[in-house]
Amino acid sequence: MALLSRRTLIQLVPLLGTGLARAQPQSLLQEDDDEAKATGYHADATRVDKARFPKYAAGQTCANCRLYAPDGSKPSGGCALFYGKDVLAKGWCKVWEKQA
Ligand code: SF4
Repeated sequence: MALLSRRTLIQLVPLLGTGLARAQPQSLLQEDDDEAKATGYHADATRVDKARFPKYAAGQTCANCRLYAPDGSKPSGGCALFYGKDVLAKGWCKVWEKQA
């Protein structure tokens, strides 16, 4: 008798893929990275220059952006914009979108 039924295996495979993807160590996006410069990424949203980034409003952070994927209780998580690099939850960039 098999340990896992075919149905269970089919249900688990997508979850395993997600778990493995997040298990890979992600490097943290740095403000001087080219992609960060292109999007005005700031590691600390409170340091955003409102004159330079008029779209910024106080309270906007990666943590409340629609593109942010939290990683448990870690201070950083994934961003749909930056494949393979995490962003700080307290960060911000000019692509910020309100969560639905
Ligand atoms: S798109 Fe959103 S989560 Fe990604 S860096 Fe910009 S503000 Fe942060």
